[in-house]
Amino acid sequence: MTMRYRRLGNSGLQLSELSLGSWLTFGKQITDDTAEALMRTAYDNGVNFFDNAEIYARGESERVMGRILKKMEWPRDTWTVSSKVFFGSGGKLPTQLGLHRKHVVEACHAALQRLQVEYLDLFFCHRPDPNTPIGETVWTMHQLIMQGKVMYWGTSEWSASEIKEAHAFARENHLIGPVMEQPQYNMFHREKVEREFASLYDTVGLGTTIWSPLASGILSGKHTLEGDASSRLRMAGLEWLKERELNETRLNRVEGLKTLAAGLGLSLPVFAIAWCLKNPSVSTVMLGASRTTQLEENLKAVEAQDQLTPDIMARVEQVLAGERLSTW
Ligand code: NDP
Repeated sequence: MTMRYRRLGNSGLQLSELSLGSWLTFGKQITDDTAEALMRTAYDNGVNFFDNAEIYARGESERVMGRILKKMEWPRDTWTVSSKVFFGSGGKLPTQLGLHRKHVVEACHAALQRLQVEYLDLFFCHRPDPNTPIGETVWTMHQLIMQGKVMYWGTSEWSASEIKEAHAFARENHLIGPVMEQPQYNMFHREKVEREFASLYDTVGLGTTIWSPLASGILSGKHTLEGDASSRLRMAGLEWLKERELNETRLNRVEGLKTLAAGLGLSLPVFAIAWCLKNPSVSTVMLGASRTTQLEENLKAVEAQDQLTPDIMARVEQVLAGERLSTW
């Protein structure tokens, strides 16, 4: 497998087309040994971006990743790591959450410590904060970049108009604006990436690091309506996720998609991830994995994207629209 790289929006930074995230897995669902094996497999296959956030396992995900990065001794100029600020790392007081200057600066310092790095390559505002003027956050991110603590900053699940406002403020004040957004994108969640952000790719040069390419594993094809027993969808406390992601209509679509994938000799997860890569507005697809076998399989999507011809892409649309593929 040969990794390919894409520019992060109009920045000069090139990220691997597939990257590795740690939500629900690092410091929670999997052992630290599995986390290390995942990072090794990813890095050995050309992955150069590891995603994290202050809230993941309440800081523990960053601690686990930090220990692994230190142990691996990979040259610092061969990989990038992120953190995200907004939800806090456990505390719920108003000073411990949000995008005001105090929390953004403190969250950055805490992430640097947990990850054991001198700077964050990417720092995301994990959600918009209605209680903080956007200009205050733009200023703070700009200052963190000037201090050498952050390389690029961005947003996650912000609206197009919030991103535009941040850019307008940055332009007016000669500050560095957000380079990337981190939205959900997969066959079942397309609105933001394909429509809402459409005007931002050419204007502000928005890059995207997209999350949940398999809709939390639904697009792996392994789930029944109860959820696969060994998966996150059966974990205590994640009933809301199962409720949100798993339903009969989706499982019906999954069956049609499986047939399409099989016709190309591909597994459904590889096909679904390759489908995300077909969108040129996607800078990197962030993979999640609870086992190295999953990651090894999913990495095949880089080469598989070449098999997804316009005809196959049109058939995907048919399946998602609920049409039967009688001639396949
Ligand atoms: P996916 O939708 O790809 O789900 C990954 C999960 O699906 C795995 O952990 C595994 O779970 C299952 N899976 C993956 N591959 C296979 C396979 N080949 N066969 C069977 N099952 C498979 O991605 P995530 O939801 O994990 O999101 C990726 C990353 O995006 C996160 O780690 C995080 O860094 C980021 N993220 C960001 C968010 C944000 O708000 N900014 C929100 C959510 C995620 P299991 O074994 O348990 O079934």
